[in-house]
Amino acid sequence: MKETKVVVVGGGIGGLAAALVLARDGYQVDVLEQSDAFREIGAGIQIGPNAFRMFDCLGLTDPISHVAYFPRELRMNDVRTGELVAEVPVSATAKGTYGFPYGVIYRVDLHNVFLDACRVLPNVALHTHAKVERVENDSEGATAHLADGRSMRGAALIGADGLWSTVRKAIVGDGAPRVSGHIAYRAVLPIEKVPEHLFSPDVVLWGGEKTHLVHYPLRRGELYNLVAVFHSDRYEEGWNTFGDPEELAQRFAQAAEPVRELLSMIETWKMWVLCDREPVKNWTKGRMTLLGDAAHPMLQYLAQGACMAIEDAAVLGASLRRNDGDFARAFDEYQRARYLRTARVQLTARFYGDIYHATGVTRELRNQLFQSGTESAGFAGLSWLYRGIEPEAAPV
Ligand SMILES: Cc1cc2nc3c(=O)[nH]c(=O)nc-3n(C[C@H](O)[C@H](O)[C@H](O)COP(=O)(O)OP(=O)(O)OC[C@H]3O[C@@H](n4cnc5c(N)ncnc54)[C@H](O)[C@@H]3O)c2cc1C
Repeated sequence: MKETKVVVVGGGIGGLAAALVLARDGYQVDVLEQSDAFREIGAGIQIGPNAFRMFDCLGLTDPISHVAYFPRELRMNDVRTGELVAEVPVSATAKGTYGFPYGVIYRVDLHNVFLDACRVLPNVALHTHAKVERVENDSEGATAHLADGRSMRGAALIGADGLWSTVRKAIVGDGAPRVSGHIAYRAVLPIEKVPEHLFSPDVVLWGGEKTHLVHYPLRRGELYNLVAVFHSDRYEEGWNTFGDPEELAQRFAQAAEPVRELLSMIETWKMWVLCDREPVKNWTKGRMTLLGDAAHPMLQYLAQGACMAIEDAAVLGASLRRNDGDFARAFDEYQRARYLRTARVQLTARFYGDIYHATGVTRELRNQLFQSGTESAGFAGLSWLYRGIEPEAAPV
């Protein structure tokens, strides 16, 4: 075990993945989480084969497979007419083409896999009620100053504190995130509440006219996850509260019958104002660096934010190993290995949002193009993403 201490700010999926990787390499890791517990919100998350590759590297395939659900297909329907726009036989294509599956997981379960893996390591200290207000670094290390007056110092510091990152302020200083004008409503139903005629075993996206709805089963099919997205400039940044079912009904008033019926079944929605940032390549400063949403927040249209955070953690660990614990060099190398890939995901995610929400002739063209391709053509177009990365590969 090394004496060297590393401070990780944020105990979400990215922070815990980083803590796990570093602790397994012998570092003493302090994870500082502002909340009163380490937990995730109750909602679903899609996990691409590129992240399953990382689970394999981290030895987490078994616990993840135990809680994941593996859909047969990804399907897109036109939200107005209900016509089938595209279908990808994802279970066969992902494993066959990329060697790893495409799955969906309850976020709580995914977070718990990382939490359990950290808890068995004596060199990970998990601190709750630890809100970081300010960070600073020098040639010997970095210090996190907490809201309650305490300070926590390490040989290095990793900011995994999400979209509204405090650590990012000290490193990049590029102000508030970009409010996209897209709002997400999320809900999870017990599967027995979903009528048979509305149930699908697949990941289904109903897209069009500045709105879309995604639904899929979760937790080996015990739950049903719904995410409804629409455009609105009525909301302010940082809004994270309950949604208004009436507003949702209005936004989806022109939608096909099964969509309206599904939406009407939910009384309580949680609401998110969706934000991202322009890609940057200066998220490292000496012995401090960023990871996950703190480094490269993205819209959810490619379902990759958490996947990228997990890849980040694996690459960060490999960079530190290669540089024999020289944090400044390793963090610089980690950033060089990651910034173009994560930038591509950030920008492609915006583009996918436009495709899902297309109106008028663009929508017709989308439907025609998707329908004229082979079943897995769309999926193959994302091979640069789903093929995944080799964490040990040094950046060029
Ligand atoms: C609607 C929606 C759907 C999505 N779907 C998918 C999907 O299908 N697939 C996918 O891969 N990704 C998806 N994402 C993206 C994914 O949720 C995020 O990219 C991922 O959770 C980022 O993890 P993180 O650990 O970097 O940040 P976070 O999950 O935001 O964690 C940050 C942690 O830091 C803590 N924190 C913040 N500030 C401080 C502070 N000052 N001091 C101490 N602690 C602090 C927070 O409390 C939190 O626990 C989706 C996002 C949204 C909004």
